[in-house]
Amino acid sequence: MKLDLHTHTTASDGQYTPSEIIMLARKKKLEYLAITDHDTVDGIAEAKAELSAGNIGKRDVSNYGTGEGFGDESGPENAYRLQFIPGIEISTQLEEEIHILGFYIDENNDALQSKCKEFMDSRINRGQRICDFLRTKRVEITFPEVEAYAGQGSLGRPHFAQFLQEHGYVKSRQEAFERYLNTREFHEATDRIKPTPQEAIELIHRAGGVAVLAHPGLLKMGKRWQESLIKQLAEAGLDGMECFYHKHTQKQRNYYRRLAEDFRLGYSCGSDFHGEKVKPEVPFGMELDEQYVDKLVIRK
Ligand code: AMP
Ligand code: FE
Ligand code: FE
Ligand code: ZN
Repeated sequence: MKLDLHTHTTASDGQYTPSEIIMLARKKKLEYLAITDHDTVDGIAEAKAELSAGNIGKRDVSNYGTGEGFGDESGPENAYRLQFIPGIEISTQLEEEIHILGFYIDENNDALQSKCKEFMDSRINRGQRICDFLRTKRVEITFPEVEAYAGQGSLGRPHFAQFLQEHGYVKSRQEAFERYLNTREFHEATDRIKPTPQEAIELIHRAGGVAVLAHPGLLKMGKRWQESLIKQLAEAGLDGMECFYHKHTQKQRNYYRRLAEDFRLGYSCGSDFHGEKVKPEVPFGMELDEQYVDKLVIRK
């Protein structure tokens, strides 16, 4: 099955608008697509509008991938229909940063909206501190300049990476993370208060969604800690785990699938697509072996 349950848009740090992501999903004939922006649901309304309106007269994104263009192949003449899942990816914190995905959330839920507003404010506050930090590194940056990259979207480190690259401080966005945005000193100077994963799970449930541990293979702590984390989160109501993540090795896929079985969690399958400019190494869409489809957290 072709699907992608983990994608980012211009509502956070992705390159493509929600409409463009819908077009890409149709072009690739994905069966399921979730948009999961960092700490925001602001892209969902546009995605839903695109789903019902089709894709006429939008920005040309034909340079992506094969360069074949973005013709709408979802007309009534073929039975194909994309199943869209409104989602979110919430940054949370325990001993390390943990990302919790929410699927099937009601993007108009009051509690969710008010939390997203808090997350947005906290990201703006951190963004100002990141500017201060970068100025101590002799980077001439002002907050409005980087804010312009994010537009109305959720401000994140990739926007700073873009600034550093475009202003010649680094050659690649990866280098921006290595030299400036992912050092111990950076984190000490710029950390912000985040919810716990348990709080994120509760918030997602209250908004009618299912909660999934994102990319467990990126966790830095050891296996014993990870297993106790997953146990705790399962007890807090976690519904699934992103066993099939683009960057996971076969060994990791097997390992997290076994853990999911042990804790009676569903599977999820996503790429973490941000667009080729933001994350050149992550292509759009995943292919999942049919034998695992029944265990996915999707609603049929
Ligand atoms: P933030 O939520 O603002 O702390 O930014 C986190 C985002 O930065 C992630 O979702 C990725 O999109 C990106 N990111 C984190 N680490 C790296 C890295 N080493 N190289 C490239 N992008 C990264
Ligand atoms: Fe991101
Ligand atoms: Fe993530
Ligand atoms: Zn992500």
